[in-house]
Amino acid sequence: MELFNLKDPSQKVSFAEALQIGLGKQQGLFFPASIPVFDDIDALLDMDFVSRSSFILSRLIGDELSESEVQELVSNAFEFGAPLAHVKDNVFCLELFHGPTLAFKDFGGRFMAQCLSKIAGDRPITILTATSGDTGAAVAHAFHGISNIQVVILYPKDKISLLQEKMFATLGDNIRTIAINDDFDACQQLVKSAFDDQQVRDDVHLNSANSINISRLMAQICYYFEAIAQLPVEKRQDVVISVPSGNFGNLTAGMIAKVMGLPIKHFVAATNLNDTVPRYLKSGEWTPKNTIATMSNAMDVSQPNNWPRIEALFEYNYLDKACLSGCAVDEDYTQLAMRQLAQAGYVSEPHAAVAYLGLTKELQEEQTGIFLGTAHPAKFKESVENVLGQPISLPPELAECAGKEILSIEMDNDFAQLKAYLYKELVSR
Ligand SMILES: *Cc1c(COP(=O)(O)O)cnc(C)c1O
Repeated sequence: MELFNLKDPSQKVSFAEALQIGLGKQQGLFFPASIPVFDDIDALLDMDFVSRSSFILSRLIGDELSESEVQELVSNAFEFGAPLAHVKDNVFCLELFHGPTLAFKDFGGRFMAQCLSKIAGDRPITILTATSGDTGAAVAHAFHGISNIQVVILYPKDKISLLQEKMFATLGDNIRTIAINDDFDACQQLVKSAFDDQQVRDDVHLNSANSINISRLMAQICYYFEAIAQLPVEKRQDVVISVPSGNFGNLTAGMIAKVMGLPIKHFVAATNLNDTVPRYLKSGEWTPKNTIATMSNAMDVSQPNNWPRIEALFEYNYLDKACLSGCAVDEDYTQLAMRQLAQAGYVSEPHAAVAYLGLTKELQEEQTGIFLGTAHPAKFKESVENVLGQPISLPPELAECAGKEILSIEMDNDFAQLKAYLYKELVSR
């Protein structure tokens, strides 16, 4: 697989390189030099999820990994499904929240972890990252038990919810967690200091497991195929998919699936009040505003970092701009959508509700509509209970970790201490 840097097309890298460096020169995103197109989509849709995903990813990765190697990575990463739930009439929800941290980021995170472990081989790697809550859990669970990769997660002490803390700070083994006596920015600054220190970087073999890593997108392509595969054959030809979007990685993956031949007629880029993209699609002007806090807080992003990849799909004539429309949903309509869904017997959370509302704006009667369910309602228990006035029970994964002991150590916001810790734990072992 060859990829090039969208900011500097002369920088070309392999899959293994893109995986490990994440971002190119000038902070440019990597983009595939070519995208394979499948001619027998029906045969592909007949396969089971893991076999089909292995086939798709193997075609993308090319000869850097054998088919059986890719199959092994995929079966380790995708240990849970992506069921298509019928919500009402011609509307379905693709439920992407059945992984260990109950959110769609498990797909990309776990596949990236598997790939890194494979490519690292005997070389040790340390993932160092800061979290303000959710990403920590996804990273920790994705790498937990992968013996050649050590993970160190910093988070602000007493500034995240106890349940969030328990989701990543109770795992142990190769996952080390440090509660910093300061705020999230301080944690991020400590991580940055470590990456800026070439000696530490080399000695500890630091790697970032960044959210813009191409391997994440590649994994996400697979569940769009799984969505269409679960529709009856006669409903597959006129499908509209609405994607609740923040950094636009999820939508990018869906649009690449369309390039590969998956029959998706139209996409809706659904956002909350952070509506840079819907406004851009209407006016052609890119004018990000200050970020606004909303109920669908995983989408509180006003400068989406994956957007250049979508722009590239248009620029390089893979897709026509007409296949995408935007929809920004405010807080009242988000709540209304949650209530409408509940009335139809489907309990959902704010992110999926934004996508549902965006879908209803675009969907014609004779079409089939799918909105993506990016998180389990229990992950946003408080706002779901507030809006719907009914209790939400914790799924077994969450209930189980709620009873476990937190294994974190505490540390002041002091780089010298962090450095000493990294050397003690990871260098002189
Ligand atoms: C990250 C996230 C999103 C946004 O996905 P992007 O790929 O950044 O657009 C939507 N919903 C939930 C629950 C998320 O965690």
